[in-house]
Amino acid sequence: MVGLPEIKRHRTHRVDVRRVSVGGGAPVRVQSMTNTDTADVEASFAQVKELFLAGSEIVRVTVNNDAAAKGVALLRERLDAEGLDVPLVGCFHYNGHTLLSDYPELACALDKYRINPGNVGFGQKRDRQFEIMIEKAIEYDKPVRIGVNWGSLDQALSAKLMDENAARAEPWDADSVMREALVQSALSSAEKAQEIGLPANKIILSAKVSRVPDLIAVYRALAARSNYALHLGLTEAGMGSRGVAATAIAEGLLLHEGIGDTIRASLTPEPGGARTQEVKVCQEILQVLGIRSFAPQVSACPGCGRTTSTVFQELAGSIQHFLDTQMPVWKKRYPGVEGLNVAVMGCIVNGPGESKHADIGISLPGTGESPVAPVFMDGKKTHTLRGERIAEEFQTLVEEYIENRFGAGQRAA
Ligand code: SF4
Repeated sequence: MVGLPEIKRHRTHRVDVRRVSVGGGAPVRVQSMTNTDTADVEASFAQVKELFLAGSEIVRVTVNNDAAAKGVALLRERLDAEGLDVPLVGCFHYNGHTLLSDYPELACALDKYRINPGNVGFGQKRDRQFEIMIEKAIEYDKPVRIGVNWGSLDQALSAKLMDENAARAEPWDADSVMREALVQSALSSAEKAQEIGLPANKIILSAKVSRVPDLIAVYRALAARSNYALHLGLTEAGMGSRGVAATAIAEGLLLHEGIGDTIRASLTPEPGGARTQEVKVCQEILQVLGIRSFAPQVSACPGCGRTTSTVFQELAGSIQHFLDTQMPVWKKRYPGVEGLNVAVMGCIVNGPGESKHADIGISLPGTGESPVAPVFMDGKKTHTLRGERIAEEFQTLVEEYIENRFGAGQRAA
């Protein structure tokens, strides 16, 4: 027997961010970040709403100056007025201690503070400024994410580790030292936060880098050396397919090892592209790994020389579109429908077999095959479609299947 490996989640503390739990056995959460000016409350409200409705369970906003600090409380009011219960995270660099002190409404409105230990300040001021941010988190009963980043690594710590490395009989390579510096920066900052009085269940860690192998190594080390909840993210993942592939490999591999309690895809949107793409990518990473389900999936073959028509591509596209547009209604009406699997296949070679594995599947006629399309439900052939209206008829069958399997009648039975 070839069994599936069981994904044993790394044991982490559970952190409550508003009403969303992270870690400690909670579902792996999808996060995103706005790219609006937080001082522009209307633009930020529109984007937070869009991200939240797309499925982002936590949204981070930049808090970089007084205007942004004032904007956060207004943004929270706007969200509450529309019943959008999305946790807001404030992203601070350099002046977080001042902003959180000067604007109590900001400290109160945020649901989590993101602190980058490499960017809290310089020289002797650094420790005190870090302390102030942690004290504010304690005062307002908020969790923090201690988020270190390859691009803004604590320089004093890096220099110290470089010196220690130089004294080794067999020095490590420079990248290994930098990875160790990232891990130590995250862990020592978390320990410092606990010494100040913030409990472990108020701390989430992240250590973001832009190279996939580095990210995997760093998070494995964090998971092995602590039980803090972990936020996964490949920083500066990039644009288009490169960014998606890099994020999926890095985060997917770690999630498959049980590492990661919340994830983000730091994708650069194409000009004019939707910010919500990063939410969709996170959801798909979790769904293809079988960790969470968000929307019915269409498995479609890529097509090849055995089918010269584009009929099956159009059918696969129209079915995916149909499922996507129906989901807001179906989610409420048909609990569990997000786990549905639909197959759309191009010819007899793999079509019937693959369709039988799906909940509902259709195998279209390839070149030279008789012009019929068998439909399979739960592994059995149930219908044969012909003619010009195959797409519409298949959609009707999908809808009937969903009603029969997930509808109120079925649940009452
Ligand atoms: S199912 Fe048929 S059309 Fe699709 S890729 Fe396989 S052989 Fe080609």
